[in-house]
Amino acid sequence: MATAESTADPLTEHDNLTSELANLEKQFAERKLKPEEFEVLSRQLKERILRAESQAYVMARKDDSIAKRLRLRNYNDPAVQQVIEHFLRSNGKTLEPEFGADRLPKYPIQAEAGERVSVDRSLLLRMADVGIVTETLFERILHCPRCASPSNVFLRFKCTQCGSIDISINRMIEHLHCGTIHQESAFRVGKNLICPTCKKLLQSASEYRLIGVVCSCNSCRAHFEDPVESFFCRKCMSEFELPTGIVVDVFSYAMSKNSLNEARRFLGVHALTSILRERGFEVKSPGVMGGQTKEVVFSLLAYKETGTIAIDLSQSDTEVEVEPVLELYVKMLEATPTVAIFGAIPRLSRRARDVASLHHILVAQGSTPNEVGKKILEIIEQM
Ligand SMILES: [Zn+2]
Ligand SMILES: [Zn+2]
Ligand SMILES: [Zn+2]
Repeated sequence: MATAESTADPLTEHDNLTSELANLEKQFAERKLKPEEFEVLSRQLKERILRAESQAYVMARKDDSIAKRLRLRNYNDPAVQQVIEHFLRSNGKTLEPEFGADRLPKYPIQAEAGERVSVDRSLLLRMADVGIVTETLFERILHCPRCASPSNVFLRFKCTQCGSIDISINRMIEHLHCGTIHQESAFRVGKNLICPTCKKLLQSASEYRLIGVVCSCNSCRAHFEDPVESFFCRKCMSEFELPTGIVVDVFSYAMSKNSLNEARRFLGVHALTSILRERGFEVKSPGVMGGQTKEVVFSLLAYKETGTIAIDLSQSDTEVEVEPVLELYVKMLEATPTVAIFGAIPRLSRRARDVASLHHILVAQGSTPNEVGKKILEIIEQM
C-alpha cells in the first residue's frame, strides 16, 4: 500500500492517500489493526493528505487542469454553494469587504433565508485558487507581529532625538510675493493668514506654497524635519516598524460569466436538495450524522418514516473513481443510515460500481444533477 512520494500531481496523490486512509479505517473497523498502530498510521496519512491538498491548491493557480478538478470538488461543498448562489442572485456583482471595529474584513452575503451571513476569507481564497472567483486587491492592513491582530495598531510619529510622540508637526509655507518662509502658525491670525514680514493678507492658495513640515518635540525641544515613523499595538503594548509588521492583502471578489455558467451546471447538491424537498422530504445538507465514535458528514441526508437515507454526490469530467465510494462505505460503518445512495455525475468507473454493489451501496448516475436527482427520488420513493 505504499504511495509514491514523488507523484507529480498532488491531487492524484491526495486521492491515493485518501483511499489508503479509507482502507486503513476499514481494516481497523474489522479489528485487523491495533488501536495504537491505527492511531499512528492514520495521523501520518492525514498529515500527508493535508500537505498534498494545500500543494494542489497552490498548483491550481498555474495549472488549469488541476484547477478544474478542484473546482468540481468544490461545487459539492455547501459553503462554496452558498457563495456561488449569492453571486448568481446578484448577477455577479463584486463582493467587497466591510471593516468592523476589529478592522478585520468581513464579506457579508445574503443567505437563502434572507439573513446576512459572513463568508470566511479562507473560503474565498480557496475559491480564488481554483478559479471560481477572481480577486482584486482592495486594501492592505497592517497586523501586529506579536499578537497578529490589526485591531489596535496605531501609526506613530516620534521625536528623532528622544523618541517622544509628543511632537508638534508644523507646515512651512513660503509667501511667494516677498519670499518669506515661516511656520504656518506665524502666518495665522484667527481665520486668516497674514505674512509676518510684509503684513499682506494672503487671500488665495496661489499666493503661497507649502515647503514641507518642521517638527518640534514638546519633551526635549528638538527640531527636525522628518519624524521617525513606527507602529504601536495597544492590544499587546508592543512597538514595531514596517519591516517587522505583517502586511495582509485584502481582496474583493467577483465571478466571471464563464464561472457562473460552469457553476450553474455543477451545483448538484443544491439541485438534489430542491428536488427532494419539493416532494416533501425532509433534507439536511450537509448531512451530519452521529456515529459510534465521531460525527460523519454526507453530501445530504433525507428522512422517511422507514429510515434515514445517506446520499453522497460526486462529479467528474470523465468517470467518478472508487475513492469517494470507499469513503461512503467507511462512513456507513461509523454511522448507520438505513440506506446509502451514491450519486455520480456523469457515471462511476467500473471498479467503483463493483465496490458499490459489494457493499450494498445503491447508485444513481446521470449527466446532470437533475437527472441524478430524479433517479435518487425514484429509489427513495420505492423504499
Ligand atoms: Zn499586538
Ligand atoms: Zn524629543
Ligand atoms: Zn510677505
